[in-house]
Amino acid sequence: MTSSARWDVVVAGAGPAGLAVAAACAGRGLSVVVVAPALRPWTQTYGLWADELAEAETALLGGTPAGTRYPTTLVRTGAGDHDVGRAYARLDNARVHATLLDRVGEVRTGTVEEVRAGRTAVLADGTELTGGVVVDARGSGPGTAQQRAWGVQVEGPVPDVVPGDGALLMDWAALRDPARRQAPAFLYGMGLDDGTVLLEATSLAARPPVPLPQLRDRLHAYLAQRGLRTVGDPEKVAIVLDAPATRSGAAPVGAAAGLVHPATGYSVATSLRLGPVVADAVVRGAGPAEVQALVRSRRRRATLALLGLGREVLLGLDEAQTDAFFAAFFTLPQRAWAAYLDVGSSPTAVAAAMLRVAAALPPSGRRTLLAGVARSLRRQTPGR
Ligand SMILES: Cc1cc2nc3c(=O)[nH]c(=O)nc-3n(C[C@H](O)[C@H](O)[C@H](O)COP(=O)(O)OP(=O)(O)OC[C@H]3O[C@@H](n4cnc5c(N)ncnc54)[C@H](O)[C@@H]3O)c2cc1C
Repeated sequence: MTSSARWDVVVAGAGPAGLAVAAACAGRGLSVVVVAPALRPWTQTYGLWADELAEAETALLGGTPAGTRYPTTLVRTGAGDHDVGRAYARLDNARVHATLLDRVGEVRTGTVEEVRAGRTAVLADGTELTGGVVVDARGSGPGTAQQRAWGVQVEGPVPDVVPGDGALLMDWAALRDPARRQAPAFLYGMGLDDGTVLLEATSLAARPPVPLPQLRDRLHAYLAQRGLRTVGDPEKVAIVLDAPATRSGAAPVGAAAGLVHPATGYSVATSLRLGPVVADAVVRGAGPAEVQALVRSRRRRATLALLGLGREVLLGLDEAQTDAFFAAFFTLPQRAWAAYLDVGSSPTAVAAAMLRVAAALPPSGRRTLLAGVARSLRRQTPGR
């Protein structure tokens, strides 16, 4: 720590990544200040796997129950309905936010404009906050590929759409576009605490991103067919899938560290898991560069590169091919597909899952997939 440092850790940003690191550091006796433009509970509906939720409850939240579990997780493709055998979950934002914020002694509202030498956060009003480490948790930078979704709540239950005790992870049949003019989109859904059901028309990955009104219209056409009426305000989702890590000189975490899953857009479970890992490193004396090296290790960068390749392949698939891809994907053993969905997996595990899904596809699908891999590799080869 520099002699002028007032805190051990200065955290810029109060999303899941920032508060997870801040609370874990405070829990280890470090002095922490969090600075963000607002400190309200998060409004996004955050989904994650139930085992990831349990891990966060134990490792980060001191046993506080942190969400709702869905024992059945359904994937619906042309091959039929398939319970993937891994329970899903939804974060209880209010409780998790309050639990994490409670642990952090000091919070400030403000906007960090610059980070000097990884240790001083300079706010828009000129205030300087100096710590042993500045953690950059200011969210994602810009990119070109996005996941987008338009979500609404309908009165529940709707068991023929979303299983009563379960979550609908993907339904590739619901929003089919027989004219094949629109990008592939699937229906995602789960029951909420007030008895309504959240349904979202989702474009997994597209470059350029699918316009939100297109997803809204497809969703509303589906609701009209089924006579489902909406309640409340829509949820609009836009997640950048290919933003690089920010280069502020601070220790980046979460979306700012480029840790959004390149193909699925998930990052919250990773952020909750990394909070305690980063805090342990800071307790051991790690500075900004060491934290950066831990969070974006060579192994993780290799994994992210492979997952990025997977995203590029998905971007080239049409609706029928995407349906076939996910039908094959979820027939793999759980440890194989789960490895693919986790940016913390080893590159070897991700590569093995990619090869297995290629092998599980029908020959025409395999040809498309391999052609996509070849195209992506050509694009990534320097000098071309
Ligand atoms: C509607 C929606 C639904 C989503 N659903 C899921 C999901 O189900 N599962 C999942 O894993 N992911 C989901 N995502 C993606 C996920 O939200 C993001 O990847 C996640 O919020 C990133 O967390 P983060 O803490 O890294 O950044 P953010 O949540 O973006 O937080 C950034 C923080 O930094 C603050 N900030 C910004 N600029 C400054 C500044 N200059 N100075 C100080 N503070 C600043 C912001 O106010 C905010 O507090 C969803 C996203 C959206 C939009």
